[in-house]
Amino acid sequence: MQHPPSPADLTLAQARILLEAKLSGRAGGPVDMALDQAAGTSLAEALYAPGDLPPFDNSAMDGYALNTADLRGDPPYRLPLDGTTLAGEAPPPLTPGHARRITTGAALPLQANTVIIQEWVQRDGEEIQFERSVAAGNCIRAAGSDVGQGDLLLPLSTRLGALQLALAANVGVARLKVRPRPTVAVLSTGSELVEPGRTRGPGKIYDSNRYLLAELAEQLGGDVVYANTCGDDRSALIRALESATSVADIVVTSGGVSVGDADLLPGLIAQLGEVYFHKLALKPGRPVLFGELNQTPILALPGNPVSVLVTCLQLLAPALDHLSGALVRQPLRMSAQLDGKVSKAHSRLEFQRGRINQSASGKLWVSPVAGQGSHQLAALRDADCFLVLPEGPQSYAHGDSVFVEPLIQYFR
Ligand code: AMP
Ligand code: MG
Repeated sequence: MQHPPSPADLTLAQARILLEAKLSGRAGGPVDMALDQAAGTSLAEALYAPGDLPPFDNSAMDGYALNTADLRGDPPYRLPLDGTTLAGEAPPPLTPGHARRITTGAALPLQANTVIIQEWVQRDGEEIQFERSVAAGNCIRAAGSDVGQGDLLLPLSTRLGALQLALAANVGVARLKVRPRPTVAVLSTGSELVEPGRTRGPGKIYDSNRYLLAELAEQLGGDVVYANTCGDDRSALIRALESATSVADIVVTSGGVSVGDADLLPGLIAQLGEVYFHKLALKPGRPVLFGELNQTPILALPGNPVSVLVTCLQLLAPALDHLSGALVRQPLRMSAQLDGKVSKAHSRLEFQRGRINQSASGKLWVSPVAGQGSHQLAALRDADCFLVLPEGPQSYAHGDSVFVEPLIQYFR
């Protein structure tokens, strides 16, 4: 579909700046949250390590702790054992001239300065013998060798995932001051939409965007609290938007945002709220609108499912970052060689859907997937990246260098 050139269309980069201007500082909280509730939230204050990690010197292996000063002359060495220290025990100091049986993670007894792994040792009752010399500090995980007391463990605005929660737990912190995941309302609009499972009448299609949007919103860091479908009917839309804006931090709609006769959202939002931008120099997803209704931001996406995917990843992701008080994710782009050829005649930024292949030597190649129509949801099955074609018309030949944006970066 060709659009008339419109110099007024913002670029995606400009749109993201506008999102930041309107949404930064609007995160909820701070609230105090237990670790097991805090996944997906963002830190409202930096976390400093209250102690060392590891908290004490301990053995990295199953073996024997000893003091190298007790190894005199040439190997083989023989030492009597003075007992066993298991992980979790508070060990008595090592008896001079002895070795101590020790397990991985067990605290190193005072007076011991090294560990020899059990594979190097012959055990003979309550004595050990070994052929190798062993240096001081062998197989010891020193206190503070991972994190020192007072170190910055997690900076302000860190989004908490598995690693971050584990780090907090590792230093004994049970609760964190966080900004909660923003709540999201999802609304599919279009009089042609029928819920899956129902009978589909003539001219109707099943509503896939509601499911696409709801799961994308969750994956991108939102908490979906409302999901609904609504026809292209002014008063029904107003009712649905009233409900949606009253329960969520941001409303995301699909459909009805372009220039067709049934595209009611732009007029409605302009009349009842405010429009910050409408239409971007972007393909697919050009008609996307961002505005505000009842003091609630609203991102109105076009109806084609591929446009929904592109605009969600490019705009909903940073919007949710702002509303989470999280550091804004910057898309990771890598350069790859084009397998095939692509061209575009328009001057908008285009996100084609591609598939990355790695050659035996490690080189990245990308090929556009078959089916680049913005209605072709099934073609996305084969895609694992966006093939990014920047602003300005251009064509690329086989082997040319292009940018790809791996999709996996967006998903938990
Ligand atoms: P619109 O943006 O309303 O002009 O819709 C663009 C295209 O996307 C039309 O072909 C719609 O039928 C289709 N579409 C709109 N909403 C949905 C939806 N929820 N699920 C699947 N397709 C949709
Ligand atoms: Mg429509």
